[in-house]
Amino acid sequence: MARILVTGGAGYIGSHACKALARAGFTPVAFDNLSTGWEEAVKYGPFFRGDLMDRASVDAAMAEHRPVAVMHFAALSLVGESMKDPGLYWRVNVGGALNLIESCVAHGVGNFVFSSTCATYGDQDGVVLDEDTPQRPINAYGSSKRAIEDILKDFGAAHGLRRVIFRYFNVAGADPEGELGEQHRPETHLIPLMLEAVAGRRPALTVFGDDYPTRDGTCVRDYVHVADLAEAHVLGLRWLLDGREDRVFCLGSGTGFTVREVIDASRAVTNREVPVVQGARRAGDAAALVSGSRRAVEELGWEPRHSTLRQMIGDAWSWAQKPGFRR
Ligand code: UDP
Repeated sequence: MARILVTGGAGYIGSHACKALARAGFTPVAFDNLSTGWEEAVKYGPFFRGDLMDRASVDAAMAEHRPVAVMHFAALSLVGESMKDPGLYWRVNVGGALNLIESCVAHGVGNFVFSSTCATYGDQDGVVLDEDTPQRPINAYGSSKRAIEDILKDFGAAHGLRRVIFRYFNVAGADPEGELGEQHRPETHLIPLMLEAVAGRRPALTVFGDDYPTRDGTCVRDYVHVADLAEAHVLGLRWLLDGREDRVFCLGSGTGFTVREVIDASRAVTNREVPVVQGARRAGDAAALVSGSRRAVEELGWEPRHSTLRQMIGDAWSWAQKPGFRR
């Protein structure tokens, strides 16, 4: 079976992608340094413990497994942290990706599926963001991801490395079959933090800002189910293996929800109150990020069938009630 090197394969999105790849008949090789990932989440193929900052370990994984393609998830991904320590984001995200991309060229791996982000767009007055919207990142996380998109373009021209770039919106939920879920240390994302507060594992959820130019003053985000995202990656991989052209696809549900609307939906799913305190804005947050994902639907045949708030919160809630991964 064709092997796919999945960087960050022990992490939240990468582990779900490994499951989808295995189900589609590929062998996912999870490459991860376990800085934020979990070895227990590597269930669907071999594990290679390595670090993208260490080119020798990337080369060793390529030589051992001879993948036909790479899916690159491994990255630092916290907007707030990237504002405080931009050097870390440039070093790790861009430096790590460059090692990986150069290793692909050195080992004749010609297909690259890249996890980019809607954070490359910045704050654009609530316009629906699609593949043709200009990228104007307002935080170092978004800048580092845009830089990797540029590197891929240059390597495509120079070395024929082919690419599918996915710009994700807010990924949420957990494996609908309950095998995987979101577990970050520390947790910073809205839905898992909210559910920890519902479960009584933290005192309250702090809502960051209530004076944004949105319908209730809180930020609008477009949430997409992690299982739908994983399926999109399999479709993107097939797109490349079928020899089709380099392409960028936005992945979101196409509908934006405010933080307060997410809290209301949680109440409906869990039948419990969310303890909330109002806080200040978080640096680097755009007021609204909503996708136009028509291209992925029309060209890839993507069907984001799990991406309702009710299912995303419901699957995350089921996962939150399990013991989770342990070290
Ligand atoms: N958010 C919040 N309180 C939290 C965490 C997040 O109000 O404790 C808000 C945040 O300002 C943003 C939205 O929830 O508008 C989603 O944030 P998250 O960190 O989950 O994802 P991001 O949009 O940064 O990728």
